[in-house]
Amino acid sequence: MKALNGVSFSLSAGQTLAVVGESGCGKSTLARALTLIEKPTGGSLRLDGTDVATASAAQTRVLRQRVQMVFQNPYGSLNPRKRIVQMLDEPLLLNTDLSRVERRERIVDMLAQVGLRTEHAQRYPHMFSGGQRQRIAIARAMMLQPGLLVADEPTSALDVSIQAQILNLFMDIQERTQIAYVFISHNLSVVEHIAERVMVMYLGRVVEFAPKAMLFAQPLHPYTRALLSATPSIDPARRAHKIRIVGELPSPLNPPSGCTFHKRCPYAQPRCSEEVPQLRMVERREVACHFAESIA
Ligand code: SF4
Repeated sequence: MKALNGVSFSLSAGQTLAVVGESGCGKSTLARALTLIEKPTGGSLRLDGTDVATASAAQTRVLRQRVQMVFQNPYGSLNPRKRIVQMLDEPLLLNTDLSRVERRERIVDMLAQVGLRTEHAQRYPHMFSGGQRQRIAIARAMMLQPGLLVADEPTSALDVSIQAQILNLFMDIQERTQIAYVFISHNLSVVEHIAERVMVMYLGRVVEFAPKAMLFAQPLHPYTRALLSATPSIDPARRAHKIRIVGELPSPLNPPSGCTFHKRCPYAQPRCSEEVPQLRMVERREVACHFAESIA
């Protein structure tokens, strides 16, 4: 099974790339590859110019510090038995030569950066709200001053009112540190708030890759249109692109022939079930659809 196929992008400091798609589209596999949790079986992954496949053990150790991850569920991602100070101290203790005083200073500084107070350091995770726990998870991920943060649905377990605060926190941190984000989400409203470019994935492949403004103004791939259709909007132009898809996401173990979206696509034609559409430039963005021009 190919969980990811033909996914290609580069990301510079201070940029945010959003990856969107349904469950099973390969977003989380991409996150695990980027964070070195899983080694890709093919292709090439370069972080800070170092090829992950050929990196030495020492280089890999450095890369693991340079890439950090924030998970979806702040309730499950924090150890309930540890005080916040222990959790934030751990990465510094294991990976740096900082003294106890220096580590403490960095913890206090990081707590302030994520909007928490110094006294919060002595508390346990269960003493915080969901939004505060996600702030702690972000603080922990930032302790080693990474260059890339992969955020896997970081706001989807939070109340809507808290989501905006956490998104603003991500943006503030990026402005201060020039960190790059890969922001994984199924929620296009969230993506619209934070990303510069959006990669839409379906069954392990990229189907549309475009600057955010272009993608939201005029989605070209039928699947992107379907995702946008599921997002409420007051913009009449956006509502004009509405389409509804039927059926379930096919199994990646036995993907449909040709365009893997053809069984659910309202624009499908005989060619679609025979020929895999390649990602190509259409109207200044990449789209994998035989009929992108006519659909536009
Ligand atoms: Fe739909 Fe055909 Fe385009 Fe696939 S290639 S998205 S099935 S129109």
